[in-house]
Amino acid sequence: MNSQNFKINFNVDKLPGLYLHVPFCIHKCFYCDFFSLTQVQDLDYFVQNLVQEIIIFKKEHNTKYAIDTIYFGGGTPSLLNPKNLEIIMRTLDDNFILNPSSEITLEANPGTLESLYLQDYKKLGINRISLGVQTFNDNQLKFLQRIHTSEQSIEAINKIRETGIDNLSIDLIYGLPNQTLENWKTDLSIATQIGAEHISAYNLIYEDGTPLKKALQKGKIKLIDEELEEKLYFELINQLSENQYVQYEISNFAKKGFESKHNSKYWEHIPYFGFGPSSHSFFKNIRSWNTKKINNYYSSIENHKLPVENKEILTKSDLFIERIMLQLRAKGLNNNEILKEFDIDILKVIKEKFPEINEYFIINENLISINAKGKYLINEIILKILN
Ligand code: SF4
Repeated sequence: MNSQNFKINFNVDKLPGLYLHVPFCIHKCFYCDFFSLTQVQDLDYFVQNLVQEIIIFKKEHNTKYAIDTIYFGGGTPSLLNPKNLEIIMRTLDDNFILNPSSEITLEANPGTLESLYLQDYKKLGINRISLGVQTFNDNQLKFLQRIHTSEQSIEAINKIRETGIDNLSIDLIYGLPNQTLENWKTDLSIATQIGAEHISAYNLIYEDGTPLKKALQKGKIKLIDEELEEKLYFELINQLSENQYVQYEISNFAKKGFESKHNSKYWEHIPYFGFGPSSHSFFKNIRSWNTKKINNYYSSIENHKLPVENKEILTKSDLFIERIMLQLRAKGLNNNEILKEFDIDILKVIKEKFPEINEYFIINENLISINAKGKYLINEIILKILN
């Protein structure tokens, strides 16, 4: 790489997004490795600290940034009552310039969604709900130790629609032990029939330290057969494409115009600021993250300090690796942009490493993207490019 001409496109001309982490859940799901605490502590106290963090951030940056996305993630943000949410939204309004067409998402658990809350959420500006359905099969919900049934998921979807929120995303998981192709077809068919504008479908991951991984290690459960896993993946792609969903990222499918603006920032190196324990921020070439320890989080804020645990300055090489990993999973690589920013002819590299380039890639002038077969083997393909 030519370090003298180091010029990275951070997309700073695009507006940043905000991520707010609400780290409480009623029960810890079997497979989950997100940071969340099951003792739902005093939410009012948490919210007081969260808004203080926003105020300290504004003072330290001495700038009122314009933003166009807000994402309440967790944990279970649908545990916030409208009063809590109002306090947070007012603080954001005082400390940022909120673009009028902002996408404002709140993650919700079907087991905690109150109709009355929903109406107030909408009044407070929430215009997108991401609902953690995971599956419409009650046996599989029990296996995952979710706190809700499939009936509650359908009720939650009806409540969201009655409120008039017209941007609904649902999360689904596939690749569960004992899952059959028929089960998965049914999940996808219900998801498309209820007309979710956006579907995130994740292959079950056995994260280290989770009860799920321990059960696997003890031989209490078995991985599904590779051949079946491949069938589940292609069923996903085919059924959603037949129902006019576009796969705009490896695990994300949307009806036209409903791609997640917030999550796209992560894949395009657009800045974002995180608040709440364990949240991450990315600004210019620095990635920083907050402490996960709730007591340290509270004591930092009491001392008027941002609860940042650590940060890393990404080198040109780190950014190149991230660009390949993130954009190949999403909209694809722009050969000219990569050449200009990193002095690497990525098309030439790919052609050398994959003589049968059309087997996995689609080349459209300067844009290099991957086809359905390539998407299934995405991790192996990325490794081969980066090696
Ligand atoms: S509801 Fe979500 S964040 Fe909470 S334990 Fe379950 S998967 Fe994890």
